[in-house]
Amino acid sequence: IESGKFTLQPESVLLNELVKDSMVLNRAFADRFGVELQLRDEAPDTTVNADRKRLLQVMTNLISNAAKFSPKGGRVDVGIAQSDGMVTVTVEDRGPGIPAEFRSRIFSRFAQADSAYTRQKGGTGLGLAICKRLIELMDGSVGFRDRPGGGTVFFFELPLLQQPATAS
Ligand code: ADP
Repeated sequence: IESGKFTLQPESVLLNELVKDSMVLNRAFADRFGVELQLRDEAPDTTVNADRKRLLQVMTNLISNAAKFSPKGGRVDVGIAQSDGMVTVTVEDRGPGIPAEFRSRIFSRFAQADSAYTRQKGGTGLGLAICKRLIELMDGSVGFRDRPGGGTVFFFELPLLQQPATAS
């Protein structure tokens, strides 16, 4: 990605289906942490112009982080919402949250919150940096915010694909 040689294979993707697929694919991983994945809000018929495989990669990273940092027996809520020509996918956990001093670096390469807790959870600190670049290549953006009541909401936003008018 950094060398600019990486190209996407964009196609019209039904986001609702892709998000559900990503939850099925990551269920076994979440089970290992005793974490339940739940789809809370849906946006049926929402289509985006995206690289299916790479978007699944982004979802896998967000869901696996959310599961990894959840308390045992916790729940991760996934949601899809659409407004103003954009669609937002949220992945919400009830974990420890993102430490203040780490927030500005979280999407940088090899960034991990420097604590025994994170080291114990493993990982490379590359996942979110890759997610950010992939989503930006799809003309979208990524971010996170604190979850009221504790935990973190990671999200990405993508432009909706204009549906061609059906010929009558
Ligand atoms: P990795 O998970 O491989 O370390 P990421 O780039 O996906 O790499 O995440 C970087 C760091 O951001 C993690 O090591 C962790 O410190 C923090 N982080 C990511 N997601 C969460 C989350 N849902 N809750 C708390 N901390 C998180």
